Parts: sequence; C-alpha cells; structure tokens
Amino acid sequence: MTSPKINIKALTLVELKALLAELGCKPFRAGQLFAWIYSKGAQSFDEMTDIAKSERMLLGSRFSVASLSLLRQELSSDGTRKFLFGLEDGHTVESVLIPEDDRRTLCISSQVGCAQACRFCITGGGGFQRNLRAYEIADQIVVVEKVLAGGRKYSPETRSITNIVLMGMGEPLANFDEVVKALAIITNEPGLGFSTRRVTLSTAGLVPEIGKLGRSGVKVNLAVSLNATTDEVRDRIMPVNKRYPIKELLAACRHFPLEPRRRITFEYVMLSKVNDSPEDALRLTRLLRGIKAKINLIPYNPSPGSEFKRPADATVKRFQQILQDNEYTALVRESRGRDIAAACGQLREREAGAEK
Ligand code: SF4
Repeated sequence: MTSPKINIKALTLVELKALLAELGCKPFRAGQLFAWIYSKGAQSFDEMTDIAKSERMLLGSRFSVASLSLLRQELSSDGTRKFLFGLEDGHTVESVLIPEDDRRTLCISSQVGCAQACRFCITGGGGFQRNLRAYEIADQIVVVEKVLAGGRKYSPETRSITNIVLMGMGEPLANFDEVVKALAIITNEPGLGFSTRRVTLSTAGLVPEIGKLGRSGVKVNLAVSLNATTDEVRDRIMPVNKRYPIKELLAACRHFPLEPRRRITFEYVMLSKVNDSPEDALRLTRLLRGIKAKINLIPYNPSPGSEFKRPADATVKRFQQILQDNEYTALVRESRGRDIAAACGQLREREAGAEK
C-alpha cells in the first residue's frame, strides 16, 4: 500500500530538509522548494523548472503542494477586496485586502471562528470551530498574491501585498504554536520574507501569551484590542477581560519588549454611548501612560440586528482631540468595505446563510 502524500506546506524548513535527506536530495533543495512555493506561488512541482524532471517526479510521488481553495471574492466600491477560502475539512475562512495610499494590507485569519465572544464582533457570535494550521494561515497570503498577480510572475520585491495583519477571524494568541510557525514562514527567507516591521499581530488581550510572545523572540508588531477604559464596560463587551482585567493587560504591554522606534497599537472600537465619552478619552490617556503607544479609533460599523450604534462624527472627533491634546498619536480608521460586509466574519456568515 502506498503511503499518503505529505503536504509540503505543512512542514517547516527543518522538517522538509530532514525528509529530503532521506530521499537523497541535495541539502539546498529544501530552500529552493520553499522559494518556489512561497515567493513564486508555485502550486505544482512541474512549475519548478530549475529542478531536474526525474527529481520533480520523485518529489511529486511523495509530496503534494495543497492550497486553500478560493471559493469567492468580492470587491468593494472603496477598493477593499474580500476573499473566502475553503479548507480541506469543509470549513471556511476569510481574508480582506485593504488598499491605502501606497500600501496594500492583507488581514488574515488565524482560527475558524473564535472563542473570545466579543459582543461587537460577528465572528465571536458564531463560536469557535478549530485552530488553523500554520500553512492555512500563511497560504491565505500565497493565494491572494497569486490572484493579484493574475498570471504575471512575481518575486518578494515585485509582489502586491505590502503589509500583513493577523486581525481577521480568531484570536491569534489562542493558537500560539501554529501562529508562531506561520509567522516564521511569513517573515523568513526562504519563505514569504516580509519585514517584521510590516507584520502585525492583534490580540484581544491574552496576558500570559503576550508575555510568551515577548519571550519567543518573534519581532512582529503588537496590536491590542482595548475598546474600553473601565473593567465594568470591558467585562461587558469583551468577556476575556474577566480573566485578564485592564490593569493586568496593560502591565503585560508595559513589559513587552519593543524594537527601537516601535510602539504598541491600541485598537479602540467606538460604540455610541458605551465607551465614547470625553471621560473615557481622558481615562485612556491615563491608562496608557508609560507605554509607547498609538491609538486607532474605529467607529463601529453596525451590521444588521446589531445591538450597538456608531457614534456621531463630532463625538469621534472630540475623543480624538482629547488624545491628541495629551500627546498621543490617535488616528480614526474607518471600517473598510462596508458594501461587501468586510467587518470580520461577515462574508463567511453570509455564505453560510446562503448555504442553509
Ligand atoms: S473581535 Fe477578534 S477576538 Fe473578539 S470575537 Fe472577534 S475575532 Fe474573536
């Protein structure tokens, strides 16, 4: 009986090297294969034309180059593009491409669903199904880049995607080991080779894992989804706060090792009459004192049936002004792609609804 083929993308470079050595392949072959798969988006061994045909056949008999299947994509009037992927077990995940000035940021998912149950989030409302494997996380980038290239050859220097954020479905730090493995593929060469300055991991605030990430030597940017300035409000909108209250979360942020000139981004989804008062803004300035921080204010993007409302523009402006008066960098970031339901989990939700 022949043994099933191994998905080459499920292997780290070290694991692949070991397996190739058993097959009698040259030691540099693993790096070459990684470059073909991640930097040039090859989906079969036939495309790897600088490897002898006999060796390609040998590799093809032992390994597969499985990819996420792109089920659907939508383009918003503001240029945001949303991609829905099918996984081998029938689950789906999504990524969102956000063009802005000379950047094209891809927001990728780290889990199918999410257990954190943030009240303002559609993904949270649907519960948790499973963790993504490292290759399922990294492959979102490979497939989207291939779509954007439209058949044109590309390299890390000429590819379209410039920035990566782990801010799609799921809590990345709840899938710690696979996310760290994926980050190695995303930031290493051979691999996708993104600069660590251009990769951001966003967490709802898993305190022990923030410490673990800091100690791991992974140097990507950290973003924290804060969204409240009192435990009473944060407990209500983000259940994770009952385990790790604001004080503990910010203590972990204070201890997080930052590279020179980097800051932690605090995401603050503004919910009308919940967390958007001038007192909240002032409290926020006091809470973040001593942390190298910048703040993204995100006026809530209500979805059908949602219990929260978007604050008035004047309320957002006043909140931002208070932060700026206290010397904080505070940007207002609009939710993008409203007409294609680009808030995390919305396309997937709609697809599931259509399938029912
Ligand atoms: S906001 Fe993020 S952490 Fe919270 S439920 Fe949604 S996906 Fe999970």
